[in-house]
Amino acid sequence: MTMTNQQLFERSCQYIPGGVNSPVRAFKSVGGTPVFFERGQGAYFWDVEGKSYIDYVGSWGPLILGHAQPDVVKVVQDVASRGTSFGAPTAAELEIAELLCQLLPSLELVRLVSSGTEAGMSAIRLARGYTGRNRIIKFEGCYHGHDDALLVKAGSGALTFGHPSSAGVPEETASHTLVLNYNDVAEVEETFNKLGSEIAAVIVEPIAGNMNLVQASPQFLETLRTLCTKHGSLLILDEVMTGFRVGLECAQGLYGIQPDLTILGKVIGGGLPMAAFGGRRDIMERLAPLGPVYQAGTLSGNPVAVAAGLETLRQIQAPGFFDKLSNMTRKLTDGLTAAAKKHGVVFSAQAVGGMFGIYFREIPPKSFDEVMASDRDAFNCFFHAMLEEGVYFAPSAFEAGFVSAAHGDAEIDKTLAAADRVFSQKS
Ligand code: PMP
Repeated sequence: MTMTNQQLFERSCQYIPGGVNSPVRAFKSVGGTPVFFERGQGAYFWDVEGKSYIDYVGSWGPLILGHAQPDVVKVVQDVASRGTSFGAPTAAELEIAELLCQLLPSLELVRLVSSGTEAGMSAIRLARGYTGRNRIIKFEGCYHGHDDALLVKAGSGALTFGHPSSAGVPEETASHTLVLNYNDVAEVEETFNKLGSEIAAVIVEPIAGNMNLVQASPQFLETLRTLCTKHGSLLILDEVMTGFRVGLECAQGLYGIQPDLTILGKVIGGGLPMAAFGGRRDIMERLAPLGPVYQAGTLSGNPVAVAAGLETLRQIQAPGFFDKLSNMTRKLTDGLTAAAKKHGVVFSAQAVGGMFGIYFREIPPKSFDEVMASDRDAFNCFFHAMLEEGVYFAPSAFEAGFVSAAHGDAEIDKTLAAADRVFSQKS
């Protein structure tokens, strides 16, 4: 007999730290045993015990076309059968680089890497190499991968230099990272007034998806753009999550903000390990082999990942793709809000493109503090009750959710019927 989720988790804990290869998979935040998955198809995936779930995680964002989309699977198989890696250039890398530059006008040159972490780390090094400055600004609650310089959260007060939020990050490294409050225009202005000439870059998620979903105010992003230009600092938009997820023009298009550098990941790899960073030509030309900023990767531009990415980007350009995805996502968030209201549950939700946030508070949050003030226990109960119903939301109150093109009315209706049952038990 095959093993249960519980048995697999216990055995995994003997060989893998915490039983998982990425911490949030461990259900630490919500409690209970992680589900071990065996296969996925469209909007659904099945665990090792044969139970099916409607998936609102989508591998944390990449699966905008759903699981095992037949055309993506076919190109992956075709390309893999001709060789899985060459460590030398391919025409497909040119094709995807050209496409990314066409779709995102702020990209003049782009380089492929294998994860969002690598993209963020490389963009920071490049910004420092280009400006000759060390300090960077990030915002509490934004996640840009686990590079030392970016694993820093706020100390108290605007100008407190950051402290590492992980053991193993040297204080000296963290001290170059200033952590400010998301959407706080006055604080960032004050910081630039004091330290503007020392700041290499500001890195920001234009729609934050790592403290649940928090939208930047247009004024906040415009202020960042203006201050960076004025002080010779670079604006790096982290679109690893929002890129080709909130719309074909990405968040930068929605807000009309032109960054100096952009980092991308998730959707552009179509479910395989691929990410990218790119932007202004004069900055990107500082990279090796042209310039003095070093960056490299054995599997960068991997042909199988590039093929999955190209096929995904091809499909999301179909006319009406994002209208349909946005409507389906809004149907979910509106329906959940209505069900909660019917049963008197304190709840709110919002959607941007194929990305959404659900909150156990009256209205969607605008800051990290507001996210932290939401009812975490209520989320955890909701999560487990929905899991039981066969609906898989992210196992943490601090993550955004995702709808794919494979989610149709049937899946949303099933989810809303389940939510109605779950909320009714609470009232
Ligand atoms: N930036 C953002 C906005 C992300 O959401 C993530 C991953 N969730 C990363 C960077 C890091 O990407 P990866 O996990 O591929 O290293």
